[in-house]
Amino acid sequence: MIRRAILLFVISAVGFSGLLSAAPEDAYMKKREQMVAQQIGARGISDPRILQVMRAVPRHLFVPPAYRDDSYEDHPLPIGHDQTISQPYIVAYMTQAALLRSTDKVLEIGTGSGYQAAVLAEMVEKVYTIEIVPELAEESAQRLKSLGYENIFVRCGDGYQGWPEEAPFDAIIVTAAPATVPEELVRQLKIGGRMIVPVGSMEQELIRLIKTQEGVRKESLLPVRFVPMVHGDQ
Ligand code: SAH
Repeated sequence: MIRRAILLFVISAVGFSGLLSAAPEDAYMKKREQMVAQQIGARGISDPRILQVMRAVPRHLFVPPAYRDDSYEDHPLPIGHDQTISQPYIVAYMTQAALLRSTDKVLEIGTGSGYQAAVLAEMVEKVYTIEIVPELAEESAQRLKSLGYENIFVRCGDGYQGWPEEAPFDAIIVTAAPATVPEELVRQLKIGGRMIVPVGSMEQELIRLIKTQEGVRKESLLPVRFVPMVHGDQ
């Protein structure tokens, strides 16, 4: 009861809406707390908003029922169509690396299960997310709607094209790996905007691009392994 009261206070203090304030205590709460303590906090993710959101979003509802009990473990899981939901730590890491503010408008490439989109939606004003596999786009849109998210917009399409009608974005998070940084996505970033993207084929590197008046600054963050970002004609 006390924990719940504190949670609600934190939420209203920072103006979140949607899922967090509505989430009932569920059977997986303890697993989520352990996940955050052991896999996320212990590995240096320190932003309290991110820790709070990772404690709140019901990851088990984003995986196929057969994997529910494994959904808080320290690894990715299959979500069908040869795709995966990322490891919890990587979701938290990418979210932190994007240096988000609550007023941000964010684009995600690779909706997959919708989990990363839900985490983002708890942190920022609006999330636009593009998925190339129609069934996944449809399932995730349904799932996010049934969880009460009204600030996530799902589109089925080719992420290499971005979402020009809604550009520019404060941040772009790419959750499938292109061979090189997609230029169109750089164009759709605001000045001061950040892009987090895993680049490469077998060996991939997570990089952060920051777009400035002078050009694009690039930082190497972490070796990673994501599914490939495929081209629309494949
Ligand atoms: N963010 C997801 C995990 C993504 S897995 C989650 O939280 O569950 C990567 C996803 O990128 C897959 O669903 C894959 O179908 C999608 N994808 C691959 N290439 C793409 C492209 N060109 N445009 C949009 N989505 C793409």
